[in-house]
Amino acid sequence: MLQRNKMDTALTNSTLEISKTSLDVKAVWAALENVKDPEIPVLNVIDMGIIYNVEISGIETDKPACTVTMTPTFVGCPAIDLIKKSVLEEVMKLGFDSVEVKVDFENTWTSDRMSEEAKIKLEKFGLAPPVVIEGELTEAQLNNVRCPHCHSTDTTLRSAFGSTLCRAIRFCFNCKQGFEQFKPV
Ligand SMILES: [Zn+2]
Repeated sequence: MLQRNKMDTALTNSTLEISKTSLDVKAVWAALENVKDPEIPVLNVIDMGIIYNVEISGIETDKPACTVTMTPTFVGCPAIDLIKKSVLEEVMKLGFDSVEVKVDFENTWTSDRMSEEAKIKLEKFGLAPPVVIEGELTEAQLNNVRCPHCHSTDTTLRSAFGSTLCRAIRFCFNCKQGFEQFKPV
């Protein structure tokens, strides 16, 4: 009986070890793919490039912890609290003892951090992706925005603010439709 108990303990320990080693940084990044931008549901936080760092500690103890560092796309963007909450929930599901989501306001996000794949998804969603800024932002660069409906660049700015702070409203002379653009920053 005593021996059997010993064996049981050994089994439990090894099972625990297996479940803990699956708590790696890769698993966290994979989980973060489930966190969508509440304003642009076709994009997740990795597409947006707003996750800066993932750190795991305490794996060897029974209190594994994870810290995710992210940056807001715009300071004061109202979506930030929602995103933070979703990140927390998704990472917690992996089985960490504690999860912390840090918002780094020092590290500035630029729209260049958005992946090419993300820009294609944005356009399909009907939102013109931010233009890539090379060097200084010029008037010409700002105006060379492609219409997501017909792909013409014969477009003009109608309003600097769209339905959210992050968007501008533009008009396409070719298909005569208005569209929103994700502003480059
Ligand atoms: Zn158009």
